[in-house]
Amino acid sequence: MKNTQYAVIGLGRFGSSLAKELVALGHEVLGVDKNANVADEMSACLTHTLVADTTDEEALRAIGIRNMDCVVVAIGDDIQASILTSILLKDLGVNRVVVKALSALHGKVLQRIGVDRVIYPERDMGVRVANQLVSPNLLDFIELSDEYAIAEISATGKLARHSLKELDTRAKYGCTIVAINREKETIVAPSAEEVLHEGDVMVIIGTNEQIDRFERSAN
Ligand code: ADP
Repeated sequence: MKNTQYAVIGLGRFGSSLAKELVALGHEVLGVDKNANVADEMSACLTHTLVADTTDEEALRAIGIRNMDCVVVAIGDDIQASILTSILLKDLGVNRVVVKALSALHGKVLQRIGVDRVIYPERDMGVRVANQLVSPNLLDFIELSDEYAIAEISATGKLARHSLKELDTRAKYGCTIVAINREKETIVAPSAEEVLHEGDVMVIIGTNEQIDRFERSAN
């Protein structure tokens, strides 16, 4: 299978970290920045780096950006450059365009342009860290929508040595345990007879309220 080819435009803190992680995951990554020093600094970590101002349509064509499977726009403070770049990428026919938004309004404009995904890294990280601070057993939290989430909750003393049937989370709280991480093993779709071990991490799907009630009961 061919590796996915990514381009990351804007190699600031967010863009560079994302680009390096994509390389670590085994993908080819083209990094683009208008600042030559920034592009130069990243050249050792990425498959290719280029210096270009991506608000210039000709520059984008010259890069061959159309051939990328996915382009991430991680331009920081310059909202105008982010919007212009995103319009050009969609006009040029890039298959998947993912854009970092700085505000709700910026995100709204990006949706109107028709980008494929808008991400809000600061906002989402704030929500995640707040949830972890409030609930020590909550190891990770991914919002699926305004209502639904997936959470990782550790099986503390109170839950350990009980089977999923005994816990009966679906009937009592409405949320479902979809997987259990146990040391190096992952038990996907565990059966009702599965007994939790101390140190297990449960992966749970449900509404925010259901997850919250279950998490509290585990304390
Ligand atoms: P972060 O908050 O992630 O650190 P920054 O604002 O520091 O983001 O970085 C954004 C990067 O995007 C900078 O390196 C900047 O040079 C680059 N950038 C800004 N505008 C353009 C543009 N029009 N074309 C290409 N790169 C751009």
